[in-house]
Amino acid sequence: MTTAKIQRLPRDVINRMAAGEVLARPGNAIKELVENSLDAGATEIMVHVQNCGLKMLQVCDNGKGINREDFELVCERFATSKLATFEDLQHMRTYGFRGEALASLSHVARVNIVSRQIEQSCAYQADFLDGKMLATSKPAAGKTGTCITAHDLFHNLPQRKNKILSHSEESRFIFEILMKFAVHRPDVSFALRQNHSTDFRTKGDGNFQNVVNLLVGNDVANNLIGLNLDSQRLKFQFSGCMAMPISAATAKMSQARKIRQNFFSVFVNGRSVRCDILKQPMDEVLAPKNLICQFCAVDLKIDETRVDVNVHPTKDSVLFLEKEEIVEEIKEYLQRIVDDYFKESTENQNP
Ligand code: ADP
Ligand code: MG
Repeated sequence: MTTAKIQRLPRDVINRMAAGEVLARPGNAIKELVENSLDAGATEIMVHVQNCGLKMLQVCDNGKGINREDFELVCERFATSKLATFEDLQHMRTYGFRGEALASLSHVARVNIVSRQIEQSCAYQADFLDGKMLATSKPAAGKTGTCITAHDLFHNLPQRKNKILSHSEESRFIFEILMKFAVHRPDVSFALRQNHSTDFRTKGDGNFQNVVNLLVGNDVANNLIGLNLDSQRLKFQFSGCMAMPISAATAKMSQARKIRQNFFSVFVNGRSVRCDILKQPMDEVLAPKNLICQFCAVDLKIDETRVDVNVHPTKDSVLFLEKEEIVEEIKEYLQRIVDDYFKESTENQNP
């Protein structure tokens, strides 16, 4: 009899654990699907969720579609059309590259894909579970583009499901994710429906101010300050918009109710990431003056050799080579913007 204690974990356990890491919550799944739609060149993306995405989540787009011949591999782990060699990682232009999202989704939900490429005479659809297509794809009705639906998310991770059900933040998280994309890409129309009501639909006509107006209200949209910083030394460009800072007391009364909390969004080289690179300098500049900024959306373009986006499967963290210096430079810049702004407004009041 063997006394060995170590055993190889079964494949399905490994896959489910990995899936739970990539898709920690329904909002992560939405983000992955929307990124796939953007990678496919979509100009219209519609998101529909029921019961915070646990019962059903769906993302439909008018992108280039998936070829019927690719259906076989579409939900297989580490299968992707976007990355071929390790060196490609240095200059990824797409959101995806790990080939993990759809595979993960199929390990924690029942997935259906309907897709049509422009040259095909009809759409095709198939069901997927645990990385595999369940039966040969069948012809279906559908316009050019892709519609991916997941049912019963986390049916096989009951603790996860119960935790999400008992915390009602998920719909706000989903709203925020979609809002970040909508603000970042005013040239793409985004629609979000939760249960049976439409949260918002942006036009996709490229008008940034209209998007801000729709999502955050015109008191913010009419008081935006442009941001633009080009650091030769640290090889980054920082651009975007912030709402004119207001006093904490005014903020409480402001009409920006649609966002219940302040909106911050940071895209690094086109990728939505956690905001600490912006939040920290912003807080350091505004807190001593007891000011609050209700809206800030920035893009940081940085030399690709100075960041690492491949830190975590959710890809929402990035490692910066010179993070402290970048934060310091952004802080000095914001300080100048805020000082100039208040100098100007006092001059205007006392001409
Ligand atoms: P990744 O995005 O890292 O390649 P995914 O698991 O998210 O991995 O997607 C696997 C593949 O499926 C993609 O590489 C792409 O070829 C295809 N795909 C997924 N979603 C779409 C979509 N909405 N439109 C067109 N192709 C898609
Ligand atoms: Mg992807």
